[in-house]
Amino acid sequence: METDPQVVLECVHAEIRQCERCPLHVGRTNAVPGIGPLNADIMFIGEAPGFHEDQQGVPFVGAAGKFLADLLAQAGIDRHKVFITNVLKCRPPGNRDPQPEEVEACKAYLDQQIEIIRPRVIVTLGRHSMARAFPNEKISLVHGKARKLGEQVYFPMYHPAAALHQPSLRPTVEEDFARLRELLEDQSQAEDYTPPPQAAQLALF
Ligand code: URA
Repeated sequence: METDPQVVLECVHAEIRQCERCPLHVGRTNAVPGIGPLNADIMFIGEAPGFHEDQQGVPFVGAAGKFLADLLAQAGIDRHKVFITNVLKCRPPGNRDPQPEEVEACKAYLDQQIEIIRPRVIVTLGRHSMARAFPNEKISLVHGKARKLGEQVYFPMYHPAAALHQPSLRPTVEEDFARLRELLEDQSQAEDYTPPPQAAQLALF
């Protein structure tokens, strides 16, 4: 069995490019596994590829990607040292929201990427990405707050596209990025997070 993590990651990405686990494969030009080094300290998880990502097979290369690159540069974080991926690896038609069955079908790929890369901090971008770790939470309440779930530190943020569509969010997003830089230096800032009991979660519905 292959044990070199770089090779294992490449195998997972090769599988993603061939994946037919959900109907999204029918409309794709390219699947978009993710990009970044194996030893990345931070993993950014977005929502799903858009038009340009589907065309190029690379995440965050469109307008939201350019903004993400600016935010990283502004916070002094090298874009080439972070791993960037998405909850869904294929573009939903017309960039609609991911469906629960698609998230479920793609889940194992993201789990494998996290297990192989073992990032110090996972940054969730937007509510669909946040919901994987923190279902039933509101992004407006939890963005910019580091949380430890088990051994993993998470840092939920607004999606960069949200700040592009709603310029009043921009200073908040910039502040969160500055806080991310501090968190990277000191992960003890993350608060332990205990998921609410299932009964409490069900009561939210
Ligand atoms: N938005 C995302 O969530 N992911 C991308 O890759 C591009 C835009």
